[in-house]
Amino acid sequence: MAQAKKALAKKSRATARATKRTRSKTYHNFIGGRWVPSQSGQWLENRNPADTRDLVGRFPLSISDDVSAAVSAAAAAFDGWRRTPAPRRAEILFRVGEILIRDKEKYTADMTREMGKVSKEAGGDVQEAIDCTYYAAGEGRRLHGFTTPAEMPNKFAMCVRQPVGVCGLITPWNFPMAIPSWKLIPALVCGNTVVIKPAEDTPLSTYNLVRACEEAGVPPGVVNLVTGYGETVGAGITSHNSLRLISFTGSTDTGRLVASACAERNAICSLEMGGKNAIIVLDDADIDNAIEGAVWGAFGTSGQRCTASSRLIVHKKVYRQFAKKLVERAKALRVGNGADRAVEVGPVINSEAVHKIMGYIDIGQHEDGATLACGGHHLTKGEYAHGYYIEPTVFTDVEPNMRIAQEEIFGPVTSVIPTNSLDEAIEIANGVRYGLSAAIYTQDVNRAFHAMNETYTGIFYVNSSTIGAEVHLPFGGTKGTGNGHREAGTQVLETFSEWKSVYVDYSGKLQRAQIDTVEL
Ligand code: ADP
Repeated sequence: MAQAKKALAKKSRATARATKRTRSKTYHNFIGGRWVPSQSGQWLENRNPADTRDLVGRFPLSISDDVSAAVSAAAAAFDGWRRTPAPRRAEILFRVGEILIRDKEKYTADMTREMGKVSKEAGGDVQEAIDCTYYAAGEGRRLHGFTTPAEMPNKFAMCVRQPVGVCGLITPWNFPMAIPSWKLIPALVCGNTVVIKPAEDTPLSTYNLVRACEEAGVPPGVVNLVTGYGETVGAGITSHNSLRLISFTGSTDTGRLVASACAERNAICSLEMGGKNAIIVLDDADIDNAIEGAVWGAFGTSGQRCTASSRLIVHKKVYRQFAKKLVERAKALRVGNGADRAVEVGPVINSEAVHKIMGYIDIGQHEDGATLACGGHHLTKGEYAHGYYIEPTVFTDVEPNMRIAQEEIFGPVTSVIPTNSLDEAIEIANGVRYGLSAAIYTQDVNRAFHAMNETYTGIFYVNSSTIGAEVHLPFGGTKGTGNGHREAGTQVLETFSEWKSVYVDYSGKLQRAQIDTVEL
């Protein structure tokens, strides 16, 4: 009898463990402070791009009814949150930062598993969310407005910030925690409530961020998470009349759809989109340092950064030497599962990405006629059999107008373009539809400043790669990269708050601006 009881207890422990394992793989939307499945009753599978046999989790395949429920919850929570003093809101957000620090290791492993970026970079992504959270929370005790003299006597003029309302946040997969945090935390400190929709490939990192908000004490309804496809959940958010602002990061094509939907209903719209970033390497550059920057910029995150160094514009005097060293370094990079600490280049995100990147490699060789100096293969054998792996690829003798030098590839592919002079290099750097990031390697301060001045981008680096933005400086780009807004820095507050000009007349009589004149 005792033995039967023992066996039963063992079985029930095993069942509990198994259930726990199964449960830990099924995640929910977060609406009005409750974790709920989608009203569709359907699920989206999140698989590891390094090995698709590994199911990271099942997430709600949400529909427009879920979006509406989330927007209603956010709208109901808005007055309470906007009336909460900003320093108090910030205290809660500082706590979010503490939770992110506490669980950084777990979030890092989750991110590598769902997105593929190597551990070190995934750790950097989580760290960026921590930095952003602390920095933006600090604004809770600033959120500066200004005072200015009024034109009439006994009259006071000032300007204060107010939240914009309920915001829709739509995020991509390449920075699965950093980008959601860039939008979410500033939106909250300003007093907005939000509905956030992560990319379908990487919902777990946003789930982790939202869980941290819940644990930190963000009140129910202030943050709502809805997972699912862009065409349903994303489009549902974009067109929802109660969402006053949409903040979007993703591809240029989708950004255009988001912008038109927002224009239709007069919503505020902040867009961060593509890039085709150039590093200029002059003849006086420290070549080894430039190579390090080029390799890191081109192949970090497997080239899947909007700031990736996809064009390397190199002075003819050092061109051969640079190309040779670059190819040697690219060939030596260890490609594999990012969870392995020796790996330098992880998989790309999914099969569509493989298709697109391989398509560009084909265009580079055949349509463009550039020289494929190394790489170019989709790796499918042995350890690569179950993931999405592409060799680090370098094209040389690339002409500025070739498609591989104009279009965003978003993979581990870079183009080396020869140039005769600094001014020609700047013209090439500027000669694309995007304007996110650019860099120059030179020892000459005059040439560095000249390039800084003449390059029409939102970010510029001297003797450093095109990647590596810090959270307290504005992030964003010119031309096709965005629509004039900036994320990060204090500049992000311009997106997530609106100005209210306040006039206080204590003269006790009617004073008409522009009409009554003050006697001297
Ligand atoms: P990528 O091609 O890099 O995945 P997308 O622009 O397709 O970039 O995706 C960025 C985000 O936009 C994702 O969260 C995605 O689900 C969402 N999205 C995709 N299509 C739409 C759409 N029509 N409306 C709104 N959001 C969308």
